Amino acid sequence: MLNSITEYCTACGACNNICPNKCITMIADDEGFLYPNIDEDQCTNCNLCKQVCPVLNKSVCKNELSPMVYAAWSLDNEVRFDSTSGGIFTELANYVILQGGYVVGARYNSSHLVEHYIISDMEEICLLRQSKYVQSEIGFVLKDIKELLDNEELVMFVGTPCEGAGLLSFLNKDYDNLLLCDFICRGSNSPKAYLKYLDSIKKKYNSKIKKVWFKNKKDGWNKFCTKIEFENGSEYYADRYTDLYMRGYLKYNLYMRPSCSNCSFKGFPRNSDLTLGDFWGVKLNDESIDTDRGTSLVIINSQKGKKYFENIDDQIFKQENAIDKAISFNQCGIDSVMKGNKRNYFFEKIDSMDFEELMTSIINTGLVKG
Ligand SMILES: Cc1cc2nc3c(=O)[nH]c(=O)nc-3n(C[C@H](O)[C@H](O)[C@H](O)COP(=O)(O)OP(=O)(O)OC[C@H]3O[C@@H](n4cnc5c(N)ncnc54)[C@H](O)[C@@H]3O)c2cc1C
Repeated sequence: MLNSITEYCTACGACNNICPNKCITMIADDEGFLYPNIDEDQCTNCNLCKQVCPVLNKSVCKNELSPMVYAAWSLDNEVRFDSTSGGIFTELANYVILQGGYVVGARYNSSHLVEHYIISDMEEICLLRQSKYVQSEIGFVLKDIKELLDNEELVMFVGTPCEGAGLLSFLNKDYDNLLLCDFICRGSNSPKAYLKYLDSIKKKYNSKIKKVWFKNKKDGWNKFCTKIEFENGSEYYADRYTDLYMRGYLKYNLYMRPSCSNCSFKGFPRNSDLTLGDFWGVKLNDESIDTDRGTSLVIINSQKGKKYFENIDDQIFKQENAIDKAISFNQCGIDSVMKGNKRNYFFEKIDSMDFEELMTSIINTGLVKG
């Protein structure tokens, strides 16, 4: 039973993209998450916004294939190093663009926030590469994707499982020219919490930020290091145990979107064509396979996904694997992450305290166990 919109809305953007009267605006709440706001004066009660919601109207999985699972990585060492897992996203994007197609994924904008963006030029793949651990704003990109698809252009979309579900629901039609990739998703963090974190670090380094790079692999893939480059040439570098933002995300579950703790899009098979992820635990059967440089988990959900994955065969190493093994090290593929017990405290204090001060108070005073 879903009570309030904050419990289920994922901000997939299907409702504001479909509204024929353009009367839905996405507005941030006190925690910094976007929710649809309806201008009642303009609304004609057509109900399309409710009918398109992929959470309120869960679709049946149409994929007939039992998921096929691979451990894989790009043979291009630079691509592999620059990517969050094994660089399979970049190889697929290269292929799609070489076919004259478009790729839609998440990039940082000039305010350091994240938004979905369409590219058709190889040079721009680097903007979409790498996981950004903050919720991406979908904006009106779904309408642009539909226009491209209706014009018979090839489009590859990458996003969280809820964003993919929002796109499918908005399109409401099968397109052979759409390649839908989602990933195993721990959850989407609050843009407000992320900006507070950046503000706190900026103050220390007394400089503007040039680039944020989560899960940088300089010291290996398993360390989850965050690297921030500043305009004054200095650099911040910290692993998952010392970087306060990653601790708040991975250990204390402080600022994920409320709907992530009751995610409707877990499990397999899925409606996406391919599901990407990190193949944690891959070395258990084969020591040589995990060189700490990043291994992608690729789950093939459809014949179309199989075809596209085969198309990049010459660019990658791949090894068939078992879904049970992949998921046993990556529970986020099937289970939601629960809200941390200090999540409310975090958001009560977010406006009055510096991020570092707030996180230190949570960690040091024993307010959170762990
Ligand atoms: C918020 C988040 C949580 C994740 N949680 C897990 C997890 O629990 N377990 C796991 O195995 N993998 C998780 N992943 C996926 C993993 O980090 C890699 O993105 C994935 O394996 C693809 O890696 P790659 O090397 O092929 O390509 P990369 O170059 O790393 O590709 C990243 C792709 O993800 C898209 N992307 C980046 N940030 C966002 C965002 N904020 N919102 C939507 N799309 C985005 C980019 O556009 C790009 O297409 C998560 C990713 C994100 C963004």
